[in-house]
Amino acid sequence: MYHIIVVIMDKKKIIVIGGGLSGLTASYLLLKSGFDVTIIEKNANLGGFCTTYLKNDAYIDTCIHYLVGCKKSELTSLYNQLGFFDNNEIIHFPYFYRFHYFDKKIDILRDFNSFKDEINSLSLKEDKLKLKKFFKDIKAFYHFPIKTDKAMPRMNILDYINLLLKNFSGIKAYMKYKKVSIDEYASRFKTPIINNFIRSMMPNEVSIVPFLGLLSSFFKGNADTISVSSKEVIENIKKRILNLGGKIILNEEIIKFNIADNKIASIKSNKNEYKGDYYISALPLTYLYSNLLKKEYHDEEIIQTLFDYKNNTPLSAFLVYYKIKPSYNSQLSDYFIKYIPEGFTCITSTNKSIGFKYYSNIINKDNSHTLVCIIDQNYDDYLKWKSMKEDEYNKTKIEISNRIEKELLSLIPDLKNNIELVEVLTPKSLYEYTYNFGGCYMANLMSKTTNKNDYKYSSSKIKNLIYSSIWMTNLGGIPSALTSGEFAYKELLYKLKKD
Ligand SMILES: Cc1cc2nc3c(=O)[nH]c(=O)nc-3n(C[C@H](O)[C@H](O)[C@H](O)COP(=O)(O)OP(=O)(O)OC[C@H]3O[C@@H](n4cnc5c(N)ncnc54)[C@H](O)[C@@H]3O)c2cc1C
Repeated sequence: MYHIIVVIMDKKKIIVIGGGLSGLTASYLLLKSGFDVTIIEKNANLGGFCTTYLKNDAYIDTCIHYLVGCKKSELTSLYNQLGFFDNNEIIHFPYFYRFHYFDKKIDILRDFNSFKDEINSLSLKEDKLKLKKFFKDIKAFYHFPIKTDKAMPRMNILDYINLLLKNFSGIKAYMKYKKVSIDEYASRFKTPIINNFIRSMMPNEVSIVPFLGLLSSFFKGNADTISVSSKEVIENIKKRILNLGGKIILNEEIIKFNIADNKIASIKSNKNEYKGDYYISALPLTYLYSNLLKKEYHDEEIIQTLFDYKNNTPLSAFLVYYKIKPSYNSQLSDYFIKYIPEGFTCITSTNKSIGFKYYSNIINKDNSHTLVCIIDQNYDDYLKWKSMKEDEYNKTKIEISNRIEKELLSLIPDLKNNIELVEVLTPKSLYEYTYNFGGCYMANLMSKTTNKNDYKYSSSKIKNLIYSSIWMTNLGGIPSALTSGEFAYKELLYKLKKD
């Protein structure tokens, strides 16, 4: 129905600010419905966080490790429409990740029954009953929607009833656990390896809900990876946008909004001025509020949640990329290896898990492969990185990278003389690339004290401005980026119908 309404209306000019996944999704759907769309992106490439670049002959891929909803989900249609699976295969790992704990390990096996057997075999007697509950909790999230059809504020009572009927066990578990932190959930287990395994996935203060949700997605076969790089996925989307007549402007940063009568009259980049009928803000909502929209246009509720980083955890990362020599007879596979090194610190955070991921599917220009190491970083870490003078910043990056290399070699000794450091990214570098708050790439992860309502703010106080980006939800990642882009598109159709 929406498509018919749009076709018979004038060709409205829409300006999408930000060429990350959320902006690209909104743009593609708008173009398909016949709108005139211009994307303005500050970087030299589209994709935002979802990107791959070359350094010292190695491909540095910042994004796709797990694609939640890749097999069959509410997102399948969007993934297909955008071209995520063009020239591409879904890779089903035999296990999700391997967790090391001293001389023991847990393989998070794809087969749920084998996973249960493995954990049970490691568990102390007093944890057996609690484990049964843990398995039941994971199962409950099999019935939890990755996205809804409409944004929450646009749902009516029938939509809610429908949602509840289809996903009763998942929603019940969500309500029960949203205020239980990883730390609290893990503490129920006395078996050290199980307790630490639960802590290894996300920061301690985050709610247990995303952890249970991610595990259940994996066991359902719905959180695998793909055979091409992040950049290749973006190229597929870009091709579709250009074929539909979309305009892409790169290397221009929007620096000013001209607003009159509660409407945007024009926006200014560092080079030009642009006028549209409607504007979709697909740059980080946090940046929009801090730098582009004057206080009188701020929504108090947004301010209270977006920047309240103690209650709404913005997750960033310290990333070290290594090249693994082609001659190395790799025993590594693509799954993550995770463990919690004792006494390891990375800036303000202590006792963090370290994750290693090897890319067997991506062959570098010199035939080597890339291995990335990821350590979670929080907003305090970002502030610390940001406060450092250049010398100290560079020195600290190298010093932590060296410590990580030592950890890696103690875990996999035969890597010695086979690895070469190629790139180090900090929350500060991630911020500088996309302007996301604190270099955060997962938006506000829900915590037990989260006070955020997803998509509540799809309409801004400005009549012709619509918000998009991962900051619209409290889960983040590619599913949120795509969903927020789709909801921005739907919100625009809704506005047009009303205006
Ligand atoms: C290390 C890492 C690992 C990840 N792993 C996964 C994973 O395995 N699975 C998963 O689902 N997700 C993962 N993600 C997260 C995922 O990449 C992001 O959540 C998603 O891509 C964000 O999309 P977005 O469009 O909301 O934001 P962004 O990608 O931040 O896009 C915003 C765009 O706006 C542009 N912009 C900002 N300011 C301006 C301005 N003033 N003018 C013009 N343009 C502007 C930015 O340059 C950027 O291109 C990962 C991210 C990282 C960094």
